[in-house]
Amino acid sequence: MNYLPIFLHLRNAPCLVTGGGDIAYRKIKMLLKTGARVTVVAESANAKIRALAAKKALTLIEDTFVPEQIEGMRLVVAATDDKAVNRQASETAIRQGVPVNVVDQPELCSFIVPSIVDRSPVLIAVGTGGAAPVLSRLLKSRLETLIPAAYGHLANLAGSFRTKAKATFRSTRLRRAFWEQVLQGPIAELVFAGRDEEARNALKELIENPQEDNYQQGEVYLVGAGPGDPDLLTFRALRLMQQADVVLYDRLVAAEIVDLVRRDAERIYVGKARANHRVPQQDINRLLVDLAKQGRRVLRLKGGDPFIFGRGGEEIEDLVRENIPFQVIPGITAASGCASYTGIPLTHRDYAQSCTFVTGHLKGEIIDLDWRMLSRPRQTVVVYMSLTGLESVCQALVKHGSSIDKPAALIQQGTTRNQKVIVGTLGTLPSRVAAENVQPPTLLIIGDVVRLHETLGWYRPESDHQILATETGLRPEPVRED
Ligand code: SAH
Repeated sequence: MNYLPIFLHLRNAPCLVTGGGDIAYRKIKMLLKTGARVTVVAESANAKIRALAAKKALTLIEDTFVPEQIEGMRLVVAATDDKAVNRQASETAIRQGVPVNVVDQPELCSFIVPSIVDRSPVLIAVGTGGAAPVLSRLLKSRLETLIPAAYGHLANLAGSFRTKAKATFRSTRLRRAFWEQVLQGPIAELVFAGRDEEARNALKELIENPQEDNYQQGEVYLVGAGPGDPDLLTFRALRLMQQADVVLYDRLVAAEIVDLVRRDAERIYVGKARANHRVPQQDINRLLVDLAKQGRRVLRLKGGDPFIFGRGGEEIEDLVRENIPFQVIPGITAASGCASYTGIPLTHRDYAQSCTFVTGHLKGEIIDLDWRMLSRPRQTVVVYMSLTGLESVCQALVKHGSSIDKPAALIQQGTTRNQKVIVGTLGTLPSRVAAENVQPPTLLIIGDVVRLHETLGWYRPESDHQILATETGLRPEPVRED
């Protein structure tokens, strides 16, 4: 270990920065965050530094640096582009025992500034001993993605109950168990969901009535897993997947995504194939309640977004009734995922000013939709659950006024390696699809935006053999009206 990581308390401490450029400005901003009293020495300071001086946030000496200015300082940062001046500042500071950092000259530094993940009061500092600053910045970004933004709030909350908890839980072991429960359980989740007041009340209650063991209360996370590509999960989805005790998932969630759930979590498949409901919806709703009542953290993982044709609303109604804490995490819905990964923008100034999501699910023989509205021009219609009803949808649109030449695309398993795009028109798409061995899930996009697929499509897994414009008869034909 070449360096000792420490956190310096600099509130009201006099600190000196030499230099008046952008780099100096960044260091000044960092020091100001700690509450330090900053003095800047620069022959010419940039406008941003001057503005801070004008606000009296710092003292600006617009003059040549002289070593005497280091006298009495607690910390020095040299950020001029004059090597001789930097060296002089470094030597003087070291001689006087004042910690000094010279930007980009590690050999002149007595300390180096790490990359910082700031969730104050939680701070994570990453350093490479000056060897590869870019690497520490990359590591920092990885950590940023893992640590919820509200971690600081959580630390503050814990801090304000520290003394009380110490008095209540006398042994270290009990205390540790208590805090582990609090910091990983429903109370932490309340904080992450921005419900600080409720979290505070729950924590207070817990300390005052510890015998009730109510921090064992379970909760439910209704999480959107996106359309297939695991990279499209949200940070929060991933975090909850890694802390759940039990997961309920169905057919629409890719195996690679289920693999990301905590290894020792129990997995319950409640898969649904169309018209072949493995577990009836009421039973799923009930199961969520029962598992949470056993004190478990229950993850309900749903394809796409839970609130778009996902019955997410129904699944949480029972939880509300039973007073079980839950949260809903949005996911990228199939329409967004498929649109992006096929280069078919859902809206476009030239082609579509609105976009409608509908379900093509058959109710008996018919699909009950407002066909007249969906047949109007200059819009995009996205049909979920459309494979069986594909031909009926195309025919109904033509019957209600759409052109038989209206472009349409069926996307198989969008965003996955098995993505395949079949492009045609309302007239030709059903027979094109019938000729291919199409595997669900599939999404139907109808509208002139489909013309853009050929030029804007960028994701081309091997499964997607290219269907050329000459074959489809479609070409981008801008009709900009401005
Ligand atoms: N809640 C989900 C939709 C559930 S309904 C969401 O927001 O995406 C199931 C339908 O979604 C499927 O029949 C199919 O039309 C569509 N779908 C889901 N994932 C898909 C994918 N990767 N590619 C194409 N369609 C998909």
